[in-house]
Amino acid sequence: FPCEVIRNFSIIAHIDHGKSTLADRLLELTGTIDKRVKSTQQFLDKLKVERERGITVKAQTASMMYDFEAKEYLLNLIDTPGHVDFAWEVSRSLAACQGALLLVDATQGVQAQSLSVFHTAVERGLKIIPVLNKIDLPAAQPERIIAQIESTFGLNPEEVLPISAKSGEGVQAVLEAIVRRIPPPGGDADKPLKAFLFDSSYDRYRGVISLMSMQSGALRKGDKIVSCHSRKKYEVTDIGILHPDEVSTSVLLPGQVGYVSCNMKESSEAHIGDTFYLAGQPVEPMPGFQQAKAMVFAGVYPVDSSDFIKLEESVRRLTLTDRSVTVQKESSTALGQGLRLGFLGTLHMDVFRQRLEDEYDANILMTAPTVPYKVIYREKGTDRTVVMSNPTDFPDTTDAASKVREVQEPVVKASVIVPEEYLGEMMDLCFVHRGEDLDYKYLDSSGSSPRIIMTCTIPLSEIVTDFFDRLKSRSSGFASFDYEDAGYKASNLVKMVFLLNGKPVDALALIVHRSAEQAVGRRWVKKLHKVIPRQLFEIPIQAAVGKRIIARENLSAMRADVTAGLYGGHYERKMKHLENQKESKRRMKRVGTVDLPQEAFFDLLSSD
Ligand code: GDP
Ligand code: MG
Repeated sequence: FPCEVIRNFSIIAHIDHGKSTLADRLLELTGTIDKRVKSTQQFLDKLKVERERGITVKAQTASMMYDFEAKEYLLNLIDTPGHVDFAWEVSRSLAACQGALLLVDATQGVQAQSLSVFHTAVERGLKIIPVLNKIDLPAAQPERIIAQIESTFGLNPEEVLPISAKSGEGVQAVLEAIVRRIPPPGGDADKPLKAFLFDSSYDRYRGVISLMSMQSGALRKGDKIVSCHSRKKYEVTDIGILHPDEVSTSVLLPGQVGYVSCNMKESSEAHIGDTFYLAGQPVEPMPGFQQAKAMVFAGVYPVDSSDFIKLEESVRRLTLTDRSVTVQKESSTALGQGLRLGFLGTLHMDVFRQRLEDEYDANILMTAPTVPYKVIYREKGTDRTVVMSNPTDFPDTTDAASKVREVQEPVVKASVIVPEEYLGEMMDLCFVHRGEDLDYKYLDSSGSSPRIIMTCTIPLSEIVTDFFDRLKSRSSGFASFDYEDAGYKASNLVKMVFLLNGKPVDALALIVHRSAEQAVGRRWVKKLHKVIPRQLFEIPIQAAVGKRIIARENLSAMRADVTAGLYGGHYERKMKHLENQKESKRRMKRVGTVDLPQEAFFDLLSSD
């Protein structure tokens, strides 16, 4: 396949707008998969959690042959995840494409989640083909949605292809448009090999399988290749295309994308964004990628402390297939040994947690998520910046007398698309969550409830907890939401600790904005009061910021029973006594002088 008959493209779509259905239809129309043997499950969605949630997490790639005007074309569909959390996966998939189908549901209209992916695609110079799906539905409003596509993306309405991915109507025109409108990849067969690694997976038997895009030159089985990143040398043992299963070929030519198996043993050797060249013919590396930045962190602990080794092993295995998760050991006096994991976003965190539970049968407890803060210390001469993702590490006071010059938090530019009547609710929600620079505009004017796109700058920490749920409920499910990284901003943040009988519980420390300290302190103290069982003595439950007590509740003592007759000063004996009697003793966590059952942590961290 010479370059000019190759087309590399991906599909950009909001969840449920029909990406998987269209992909299946394209594979069928080109005879890549057989309509009759196709199971009910869509072909490209592979992970269990993806099927359950109907989302694509891990990008999948498939090649198909297409005969058009007496020529055979090789179309490579490079699937991209459809969620903001996976923006990094999206941008590396797009790097191997020259064009993208922008798929919009004719009944739902443009949704915010396609925005950031669309912007990335345009920045990378990709040709965009707008496709209007689900025109078979009676509720479809083609004219109105085409107007939205024009005003949101600035695309020519005449280029929009109306289709039904379900019935197949109009899909042939999509194949033709891919061939006609998307430019073939550049790439010179006579130049030395330049292979760009954009994804990898791990196979128990064969080790690391890389997905590479040939920027120039050809790659053959048996070739010796060298990584620009590590200068390590590998021998290519198998190459081929994904059709959509692996099909071995003898050569990968410029412009092609395919899988490459070489004697790479550790998945850490497959560095995303790396360039490979033939041994003895070094080349300039392609501009690499920024590494995925973990933006949401949470501590993970086994419910049964003796399961720590098992948890660690399960996490290690899972991160072989999802390397964007960062892992660090941590320990907590309240919860014992655990791991601090970093995720790209909250959905990513949920997905990982679910995979851990589904695939490794792990019984785990997760702390409240936090974002990476920057603490800038005053030092002689220059300032020193420390990034902190664990509230426990956060300095206690940030007043002028201390060494801390400034604390900064990550902020994002948020876009919300919503029918006009919910604009007031949405603005209010943004203000409550410390949103700034609020702005909005109309996406279309026809119809009874025109849609509005609202943008604002908002701290990431505000959206990592329940923002999305509140957005959905306050818009009756109509709002869609997307965000893009907008750097760091100085902020008045404080560390809040919770004290039981005067002793801090490290796993419960929080970073909060000063304006919210009262509300947050009171809410958590109430929650603690509810979930902690009464003990033999009265326990003060306090929320503190620095030396100030923000909120307090007293947990009254339980009535004397088994330990009646044992008096103060014999605390240890009292506890011993109880421990001997209580079967559930093993699962008690002692904090200072207070025993906390694991269930209390569960209740505390899992509900609101
Ligand atoms: P994805 O989340 O973008 O991958 O969306 P899916 O391909 O899973 O489609 C979401 C839902 O829309 C499924 O129930 C599909 O059967 C349905 N669907 C997809 N395309 C069409 C279409 O053209 N017409 C109709 N009526 N339904 C469609
Ligand atoms: Mg899908």
